Order: sequence, then C-alpha cells, then structure tokens
Amino acid sequence: MKEEQSRKRRRGKHKKPQKTQPSLLPKHSTKLHKKTHQQKNPAHQSSSSSSSLKSSSFLDKMKARLAGGHFRMINEKLYTCTGKEALDYFKEDPELFDMYHAGYQEQMSHWPELPVNIIIKWLKERSSSLIVADFGCGDARLAKNVKNKVFSIDLVSNDPSVISCDMSNTPLRPSLVDVAVFCLSLMGTNYASYLKEACRVLKPSGWLLIAEVKSRFDPNNGGADPNMFSKAVCEMGFTSALKDFSNKMFVLLYFKKKENKSSNGREIEWPELKPCIYKRR
Ligand code: SAH
Repeated sequence: MKEEQSRKRRRGKHKKPQKTQPSLLPKHSTKLHKKTHQQKNPAHQSSSSSSSLKSSSFLDKMKARLAGGHFRMINEKLYTCTGKEALDYFKEDPELFDMYHAGYQEQMSHWPELPVNIIIKWLKERSSSLIVADFGCGDARLAKNVKNKVFSIDLVSNDPSVISCDMSNTPLRPSLVDVAVFCLSLMGTNYASYLKEACRVLKPSGWLLIAEVKSRFDPNNGGADPNMFSKAVCEMGFTSALKDFSNKMFVLLYFKKKENKSSNGREIEWPELKPCIYKRR
C-alpha cells in the first residue's frame, strides 16, 4: 500500500517528458523488419509489405503525436515560469531545447507568414550598420538573413554565435545596440525584466521591435490590453511608433527609445501576458 502510494507520488512528480519512446527505437527498425519478413514469406510479399507500410505510418503518427505532446508541455512550462527557472530547466537537460524547437518549427510551418521575416525585411530596408540584439533568437534565423551585426541571445546555444543566457541579464554593455528584437519571445512570467534589459542595452533613439502571438493581446479572450502594455513600455522611456494588428496570427508593436529618459519614479504597471498554448493538431 505504502509502496503503491509512493509510486503514485513519484509518477505524479515526474514532469519531464519520457524521452524513451521515440529515441530508443532503432531508426530503421521497420525497414529491417520488413526485409526479414519478405525473405521468409516471398508468397506474401505484397500483403506483408502493405501491412508493414501501414504499421510504419502508424508508428510515424505515434511519434509525431508524442513529439507534439512534448513540445506543448515544454511550451507551457516556458510561459508559466521565470527566465531563470527556464534557464535551469534547459541546463538540466539541453535536449529539451531541441525538442521544443522541433515542435516550434512544426507549429510555425502552419503560419501563412512568419513575423521574423517581417522584421528581417524591416532591417533590410534600413542601413546594415544598425547593431541588433535578437532576444530569444531560437535558431538565429534573423542573424543568418541580414548583413547587420546581430547579438543573438537564447537560453541554449547550439551555435557558437548565440549567446546563451537568461535575457533578463545579458552580457551586453549599456547603450550598445540600435535595434532590440523580441520575436514571439516574451515568454517568462517576468517578461518586463526582459524589456528593461533591452532598454538598458539600447542606444538613445534606438528601436524596440516586438512581435507577439495575437491571442495574448486580445482582451476579449483573456489576453492583455495592448494599450496598457504599450503605456507600460512608454513609461519605461519609449514612444510608440507602430501598432499593427492586421495579421491573423501576430501583432507588431514597435517603439523608439527616448533621447532622454524622464522617469516619474512611479512603479510601472505591466499587464499579465497569458501563455500561448498551442492546440493539438
Ligand atoms: N525569435 C525566434 C524564436 C521564437 S521561440 C523566431 O521568431 O523564430 C522563443 C524563443 O525565446 C525560444 O528559443 C526560447 O528559448 C527563447 N526564450 C524564452 N525565454 C527566454 C529567456 N528568459 N532568455 C533567453 N531566451 C528565452
């Protein structure tokens, strides 16, 4: 009884995805199995290969479902913890980061337009001498597609060009960059501290470009009031330059840092940004 209870407790505590299922299967197991079976039963070749094809597509479906489940679980974790906790989470098991990004790419493949491409276009229309910081860069697509000097920042670095840290506390010096980008990356519950860090590293008159999932700024569905968010950013020392709600999937909020910061000393009231939970497909 006691053992059963403690087993249940252990099971309940286990929050990490079971990595065994997809990765422990030998990569070509279904193919190998098919060959042996065909050699033994040449007469059944066509029916056996079709059933094997069926089982391999079933297996692929199951793998995809598991991968999707892992992605959604990690995604939810990132939206409901602080940046520091997210950093510790990935430090403990960096493979989770790859799992997250495989799922993220899958989700993005269904979006008609990617916000990162809009930001790339925005940069290409301006001088390549602008220095950029990409907060929460993911696979560093931004840096790979522009001529500008880009400081790519994320929790895990799979590429030597990516600075791995919690973006509320980067190694960048003050007033270093002309453009700070947050493309779908305001994930942590302490997101305001990421924006404060961006404000610190931005030069006066520098740009703050934010692209976020639209539902997070839909007050009719539990999302934040975009005006309240915008007001909070402005109180930090910015002026609003663009509010674009025309895309179905994301909003674009661009700001310009003021030449001189005139703080009124009042504490800024940041709206809560609800997690972006992706649906099962
Ligand atoms: N900007 C990229 C990736 C968006 S996914 C794109 O548009 O394609 C969001 C990214 O933000 C993830 O890679 C996640 O690891 C990163 N991120 C979330 N919180 C972070 C934090 N506190 N510090 C650094 N990176 C963070």
